Order: sequence, then C-alpha cells, then structure tokens
Amino acid sequence: MKLCLVCNNKLGWSKKRTSDKKFVCSKCLKKYGMKSQVGKMTSGEITEKTKFIDEATCNVGDYLYVNENTKEWMADKIYKFEDIVSFELVENKASHIGCCEALYIKITVNDMKNPVIFIKFITRMTYTNDKVYKKALVDANKCASILEIISK
Ligand SMILES: [Zn+2]
Repeated sequence: MKLCLVCNNKLGWSKKRTSDKKFVCSKCLKKYGMKSQVGKMTSGEITEKTKFIDEATCNVGDYLYVNENTKEWMADKIYKFEDIVSFELVENKASHIGCCEALYIKITVNDMKNPVIFIKFITRMTYTNDKVYKKALVDANKCASILEIISK
C-alpha cells in the first residue's frame, strides 16, 4: 500500500503526486499549504519544506517562514538570513480608484542564477475596501518587517 511521504498515513482519495511519483495526502497538503506546486517538486524538496515549517519559530501565513535558531528563512525555497540583498514592498494601484492590481514583495537574494524572488499577496484586481485586500496588506507589511529584522 502507498503511504503519504510526509506523515506516513494511508492516502485518501484527494492526494497529489510528486515529480518523482511519491504521494502527499490531503491532510498534509492542507497543513503545509501545498497545492498545485507538489507536482513540480521532488519528494526530497517536499520533506525539506515540511521539516522547515515544523521547525519554524515564526511565520506569516504560508508566505514566509523563519527559523531564528538556524538563521534561515523560506519563501519559495530556503535561504540564509544573510542571503537577503534588498527587498521592497510594491503595490500596483489600478487606474480605477479604490482598486489594487498587485501587491507583492520583491526580494533580491545573493544567488546569481535566481537573484529575484516574489512573495505575492494580491495577483488580481481587488477593491481596497475588500477584507481580502486588508488582510493581504497586513500580511505584506508583517513580511516586510520580518525581512527588515532578519536582514540586519
Ligand atoms: Zn500526509
């Protein structure tokens, strides 16, 4: 019988297959905030990610995880505190008043191959009086503050 590579429990109906043909159960997909990206990840990458989440000392939703003990942080992947070169919080206001088209943090990291990463909070037209926008803005500012602290 095939088991979930993260929790070792029986797989239910809604499971996702990794790029190396292992499976993650629906409980773990939910717990670790993994969805469509699982298919592009190897089981090793998933184990690394879930381990980081379990050991994180601080996080902002699924956007940003920090481990103050190992001095590492994770967005799309794991980086060291000192890998942060710079970052900025960017908001694209729509031409339509009271709307936001995009809200994201652009981080430049010390990696010549992939020097820029984005943490995206708003990716479609959203009214700024919408609670989705308000929550995104709180999360974005919290991420920016944490990045400020750990990049010092
Ligand atoms: Zn599982």
